[in-house]
Amino acid sequence: MSAVRLPQQSQDFPAWYGQVVRRAGLAENSPVRGAMVIKPYGYAIWEAIQRALDDRIKATGHENLYFPVLVPASVLAQESTLIEGFAPEVALVTRAGGKELDEPLALRPTSEAVIWAAYGRWIESYRDLPLLYNQWANVVRWELRPRILLRTSEFLWQEGHTAHETEDEAVREVLTILHDVYADVVENVLAMPVLRGRKSASERFPGAVETYTLEALMRDGKALQAATSHFLGQGFARAFGVTYTGRDGEEQHPYATSWGASTRLVGGLVMAHGDDAGLRLPPAVAPHQVVIVPIVREDDRVQVLAAAAALADDLRAEGLRVRLDDREEHRPGFKFHEWELRGVPCRVEIGPRDLAAGSVTVARRDTGAKATVALAALAGELPALLADVQAAMFAAARAEQERRTACPDTYAEMVAWLREAGGFARAGWCGGEDCEARAKADTAATIRCLPLGQRPAASDRCVVCGEASEAVAVWAQAY
Ligand SMILES: [Zn+2]
Repeated sequence: MSAVRLPQQSQDFPAWYGQVVRRAGLAENSPVRGAMVIKPYGYAIWEAIQRALDDRIKATGHENLYFPVLVPASVLAQESTLIEGFAPEVALVTRAGGKELDEPLALRPTSEAVIWAAYGRWIESYRDLPLLYNQWANVVRWELRPRILLRTSEFLWQEGHTAHETEDEAVREVLTILHDVYADVVENVLAMPVLRGRKSASERFPGAVETYTLEALMRDGKALQAATSHFLGQGFARAFGVTYTGRDGEEQHPYATSWGASTRLVGGLVMAHGDDAGLRLPPAVAPHQVVIVPIVREDDRVQVLAAAAALADDLRAEGLRVRLDDREEHRPGFKFHEWELRGVPCRVEIGPRDLAAGSVTVARRDTGAKATVALAALAGELPALLADVQAAMFAAARAEQERRTACPDTYAEMVAWLREAGGFARAGWCGGEDCEARAKADTAATIRCLPLGQRPAASDRCVVCGEASEAVAVWAQAY
């Protein structure tokens, strides 16, 4: 058996998280503080997320392209709000080719600037619109308080950048991405229930007119921003001098959107589903959906291994991702423990007695439930079992989110709830930045979003100042 147990989630959630990430083989720190090495198991999960997003990005009419990682500092500085927002996080290359550069080059913190500089060349007439483009890329944002997979100085993501004739069309785009791309992937692939909402002005993306967000809840009661989609208005077009000739023959500025989801989703998966035994992966993103562990004795090794290999082939023929763990140097107990730690949704044990009885033992990672299944029926039954695991994981996470959502009547109640990171607090807000700032100072929590399709709060008054409420806001401590 693997020696040291994980820290308990309830005792030390950050230590639990750090050890799961490392021991499950997801990622590790690199020589550059705040930057990470994504290991094969973590990268396989990212690739599954990437595929799910990319399929939907293309299905909604977008094409992929690629811009360089280096951006002239002057181009980055052209949109003042953007550069003010990102200045402290921007890393610059000042020397290359054996000499000082005439102009420093920034490592992109995000690509609005360089892309809108190009859109100025690509957009001349309304006939050139809309531009519906996305890139898969790495970005660099110097992190002073890094946390692996969640806040790293370099991370992987996709960033969509679109240009539209009308405000209506751009706003529709932003919401299509929020609902049909991001929420669909996060809820139906990652099994993480999310709140969909708008950001308050102070939490908006620099330069955005409106930022829409998905907020998920982690098992320590803190929120994680899972993806954002920004309506940028005409600000970027103005800053980069992008105009087009409209249907009426007049010169106008196009409307912009941008939207992104990143490798922090892998960290979110760990924290939304993991338990004291380690990771629990939804089947839709698990690199191995099923692990087969043969239980062998010396005298029946050959038959059991042959049966296990044949079973693996049958399951693969059903389209399942299967790992046959026939390592000789480890005992079955060690293997059970390791695949639990690594979150494999379903384990199949096959031994000589099972073989004689024509059955196998199937264990679910999400509930720990075990069942005996006829060997001949297994390949037919496993897809439905995995679908059930996927649905049960979402239902369990949603029940947890509901349990951890409070509707406080008073400010004192809200402060107590948020200070202990109880979870989401849903309450009226007057829209005042003073009230937002006061709650943040008292609780370390921020307004995560103003949910779309608002349900009423306990009171129609601002929970902080008692004035009439403008919207229901959801507060939480956040990653
Ligand atoms: Zn107020």
